[in-house]
Amino acid sequence: MMEDLIKSLPKVELHLHLDGSLRVGTVLELAEDQGVDLPSTKPRELKNYLQADKECESLKVYLSKFKIPLMIMQTKEALSRVAYELVEDGARDNLKYLEVRFAPLLHTEKLSKEEVVESVLEGLKRGEKDYNIKANLILSVMRDQDPSKSIEVAKLALEYKSNGVVALDLAGNEGDYPPQLHKEAFKIAKEGGLHRTVHAGEAAGANSVKEAINSLSAERIGHGVRIREDKRVLDYIIKKEIPLEVCPTSNLQTKVVEGIKEHPIREYYNLGIPVTVNTDNLRVSNLTLSEEYINLYNNFDFELNDILKLIINGVNAAFISNEYKEELRREFKGKFEEILNNFDH
Ligand SMILES: [Zn+2]
Repeated sequence: MMEDLIKSLPKVELHLHLDGSLRVGTVLELAEDQGVDLPSTKPRELKNYLQADKECESLKVYLSKFKIPLMIMQTKEALSRVAYELVEDGARDNLKYLEVRFAPLLHTEKLSKEEVVESVLEGLKRGEKDYNIKANLILSVMRDQDPSKSIEVAKLALEYKSNGVVALDLAGNEGDYPPQLHKEAFKIAKEGGLHRTVHAGEAAGANSVKEAINSLSAERIGHGVRIREDKRVLDYIIKKEIPLEVCPTSNLQTKVVEGIKEHPIREYYNLGIPVTVNTDNLRVSNLTLSEEYINLYNNFDFELNDILKLIINGVNAAFISNEYKEELRREFKGKFEEILNNFDH
């Protein structure tokens, strides 16, 4: 019963990787169309190559699940289709606003970087129209790419700023590549009026979060699980009310935390940090945003009121105008009331 209620609530998703969210059936069809060999053509077996287990062994295994998606996401048709389907999947889960992210330079085997971004934007826009939902795009810089490449991505993001690209993200191997390497790209993004979010405090400690804010002017932090390792960084996040894009299931799968009870989401929430709830990857983590909220309700002692607050935190932290935030808050609060009233009866 409570599960149905949580599913029916309107939501926003801020941390969602396009290449980690493909449907198994779509992977099969795209591979066949493109003549790409898959390790298996049986959906049930192929799933194992695209999804991490509940007890995934490591971050390395988790990241291996992106290999097949990257092979088949090299054409305009494929990029447009997977972007469209992600909006469709979001709408089915009652998302009203989402921010999709991907690293454009990983998709340029056959296409120019402009064609890559335009194809994804085209798919998102078709989805927006068909499902009455808003979907913005975040371009990711990969940490292991040469800084000249990250500058290229920042400039690319600026080119499409008025067409749905809202921010620059830093993703990939956090342990070996500190944020400072990509300082110039984030400077360009900031000066050009783009938002900034950085994966930090996931594979590396609190210092990586500090650098993401100091060197890259990050406005939001992806994950931020390990912030608590340094009291000063934690206090700073609390004081500045920096939103965290938390992805609890993903954190468990990549072993950032050993078990649910060790996850700091509840602690951060209690400290007043604007925590937002996200899936990271619909396919790799094999879950929907509603399921993640149900997980929080069942395993982290979040009450229904907290769930509503977490959803509104997402609206507040979205990379959209204040007017649009206000509009979403009004719409969401009206919907919450309506749903709760029906639930009582
Ligand atoms: Zn991520």
